[in-house]
Amino acid sequence: MSEFGLDLLAVGPHPDDVELFCGGTLIRAAELGHSTGVLDLTRGERATHGTPDERARESAAAAEVMGLKRRENLGLPDAGLDPAAPEQVAAVVQALRRIRPEIVLIPWIEDRHPDHEAAAALLLRATFLAGLARYPDGAGAAAPFVPRQVLHYALRHRMTPSFVVDTSAAAARKAAAIACHASQVAPPAGGAPTLIGSSGALAAIEARDRYYGSLIGVAHGEPLRAVATPGLADPVRHFRDNPFAGAHAFEPRR
Ligand SMILES: [Zn+2]
Repeated sequence: MSEFGLDLLAVGPHPDDVELFCGGTLIRAAELGHSTGVLDLTRGERATHGTPDERARESAAAAEVMGLKRRENLGLPDAGLDPAAPEQVAAVVQALRRIRPEIVLIPWIEDRHPDHEAAAALLLRATFLAGLARYPDGAGAAAPFVPRQVLHYALRHRMTPSFVVDTSAAAARKAAAIACHASQVAPPAGGAPTLIGSSGALAAIEARDRYYGSLIGVAHGEPLRAVATPGLADPVRHFRDNPFAGAHAFEPRR
C-alpha cells in the first residue's frame, strides 16, 4: 500500500470555495488519472443564502461534476474559524492523517473574508503538526503524516504564484461545478445582495482564469504558490516537458 491515500486534496473554508478558486486544477488532475478530494472546513451555515442541507446537496452535485473520489465536511464553525483553537487544529490534523493526501491545496494567507485567512493559518499549522509523533497528547491519535507538498490557491486577493496550472480543458466543467452552488451564485431576486450572487461575479472568475492562463500562454489557468520552495532535479527536462509561455504555447492562428 502506498504511504499516500489520495493524490490531491483541496481544503476549502466554505462549501463553494474550492470550486470557485481551484476547481479547474482538481478537474484536470482527475482527468489526468489522479485521485482527488475536497475537505470543506465548514457547512457555510452563516451564509446570507442557502441552508446547510441545501449546501450539502450542492456540494455533492459539484463533487460529481469534478470527478472527486471523496468529499467530506469537518463541520467547524462558519464565521468562527480560528487557528488558535486547539480543537480546530486537532480536527484538521486527524482528517489529514486519515486521508493522507500526497499534495494539499490550501487558501492563500490574505483575503477579504476573515474565515479564508483563518483557514490558511489553520491549515499551515495543521499540515505541519500532523507530522509530529507527539501531537496531540494522549492515546488513540492516528499515525503522524507529512504531505509531499502544500500549495496555496488564490481566493479574492492576488498572490504571486510559483506556477500556473493549465486548466483550459476544464473550463466548461469548472463553470458547471460552480453552477451546482445555485443558493450562492443564483440567489432569489430581491434578496439580500452578496458578492458571489452579484451580476458579473462569474464573469469575473472566468476573467481571472483567463488572466492567469495568459501568463503561461494558454486560455485558462489557476495560480498555485508552494509553501516550501519546489526543487528541480533536471531543469532542462522539466522545461522541455512543460513548454508553457514559449513560442508555441498558443495554438497557431489558422
Ligand atoms: Zn468562502
